[in-house]
Amino acid sequence: MTSENNNQVRIVPLGGVGEVGKNCTLIEYNGEFVLVDIGVKFPDEEMVGIDLIIPDLSYVQEHKENFRGILITHGHEDHIGAIPYALAYLDLDAIDIYGSSLALGLVRSKLDEHPGTEQKARWHAVNGGELVRMGQMEVEFISVDHSIPDAFSLAIHTPIGTVLHTGDWKFAGLPEASFERYRELGEEGILVLIPDCVRIESPGRTLPESVVGDALEQLVRDAPARIVISTFASNVNRVGRTIEAAQKYGRVCAFVGRSMEKNIPIARSLGYLDYPDEAIVTAQAAQRMPPEKVVLILTGSQGEPTAALARMAAGTHRLVSPLPGDTVVMSASPIPGNEKLVGRIIDNLMRNGTRVIYPRVMPEVHVSGHAAYDEHLELLDLLKPRYVVPFHGEYRMMVLNRVAAVSRGVPFENVFLTEVGQGVVITSEGGRKDGRIRSGAVLVDGLTVGEVNQVVLRDRRRLASDGLVIVSATLDAQTGQPVSDPSILTTGLPTSLSNDGVNNLQEQSREIVQKAIEQIERGHQGGAVPRSLSEIIKQNVGSYILRSTGLRPLIIPVLNEI
Ligand SMILES: [Zn+2]
Ligand SMILES: [Zn+2]
Repeated sequence: MTSENNNQVRIVPLGGVGEVGKNCTLIEYNGEFVLVDIGVKFPDEEMVGIDLIIPDLSYVQEHKENFRGILITHGHEDHIGAIPYALAYLDLDAIDIYGSSLALGLVRSKLDEHPGTEQKARWHAVNGGELVRMGQMEVEFISVDHSIPDAFSLAIHTPIGTVLHTGDWKFAGLPEASFERYRELGEEGILVLIPDCVRIESPGRTLPESVVGDALEQLVRDAPARIVISTFASNVNRVGRTIEAAQKYGRVCAFVGRSMEKNIPIARSLGYLDYPDEAIVTAQAAQRMPPEKVVLILTGSQGEPTAALARMAAGTHRLVSPLPGDTVVMSASPIPGNEKLVGRIIDNLMRNGTRVIYPRVMPEVHVSGHAAYDEHLELLDLLKPRYVVPFHGEYRMMVLNRVAAVSRGVPFENVFLTEVGQGVVITSEGGRKDGRIRSGAVLVDGLTVGEVNQVVLRDRRRLASDGLVIVSATLDAQTGQPVSDPSILTTGLPTSLSNDGVNNLQEQSREIVQKAIEQIERGHQGGAVPRSLSEIIKQNVGSYILRSTGLRPLIIPVLNEI
């Protein structure tokens, strides 16, 4: 930092701009910085075998002496999911982490998979209205309404002004005190607003969560037989309202699905849910009970093929199978990209004769946790920010946020549409895009963090689309000549090709291997298998298959010497 840049706020998204997921915002005042959230993103179909994408935190490691800690807005995976990886990755002793007790509980429940991480953090549970000092910044937690309890906006007070990060929010259900606080902060003057804009394409206002609870209660009351409710395990309020309704109408509930079975008892133990033990039975017990006495609460509302709902719909679930007279309620909307999967499940359920209720046919069974367009206008009117840096959205949503901000008097040039790693620097004189830092995405494939690169992804895509060919040959260690015909093993090739093509290939293989050997024999005298032989075989087999079938399978030569 140069001296003329003294007294500056810098905001650098490490994720969550131009994308939905892996939310992580670095907020810095004169070099000292905090991270707001460290979330995960789920991969698209192109990323075969990738489980998660997490933000690159190398900047944090390289500037660890100025790192003041992690602030959590709420307990959703796109905000907390990468914290266990961050703790494992960062070579730091005592990382201060602030968040609601629910968000901290959800993070800590996942640390078993990352040994030694629990001790690397100092966990600070905070409530709405609390203030926390972090170096020269003072952070104020403001309760907001969202689809998980205890979500916060953060007012980060710096010596040159307040940065307001909304977290995920909507106005419906906002506590009166928070509305008042927003208004006060607006009057004092907000330097920078960082608004979640993921739902800004929807006109009007988002409905309050309470309409969903009321709808679920009526459905539980009126279902002629078993009722199955599928929602996110983090939607503690919906699960709570369902359990209450079940008790009221003489039913018991069973949780089905790993995250439901794990997260709901955590929420209960932290005081977010209150129900007697006898309100819940196991899925096995529920399957044996009279259907009209049962409510199943399931994961898999996004159509995830391995989650409880999809397996139940397909009749492959170990514990729960569809029953005649079932009512299935999808208390969630498909996230863009998941529509097909969800549609298929609804079709499968309906094929079984199941009555399915989903948001398209009954909008009250799901409302969003995010603000619609008019709420953004209202927020801008309340806060009157000098600068706006939209986050939590694709580029088009950020543009709409700028449209909203400009319509409410924020100068066009004061709205910064950034990208991951692109900083925005604000001083008392003005704001500009500046201070890019190294950043990007780190891929996690369940086994390794960050070791999956573009080459690995390309191999996996090939494997998925064009199959695998293994060429195995045994060579004489003395002469370097094949001792028998090389064998060809294929998998995942289209069947017609794997019949004709492979038979031909099998016939050709000896020649291909022989040719490869001749190719490298010039200048080579028997003995050890030269390293390039497998490369040449790979190339020759590859071009033969490409010529005869048009496919580019992954080719693995396996050479043995005897
Ligand atoms: Zn959220
Ligand atoms: Zn979010």
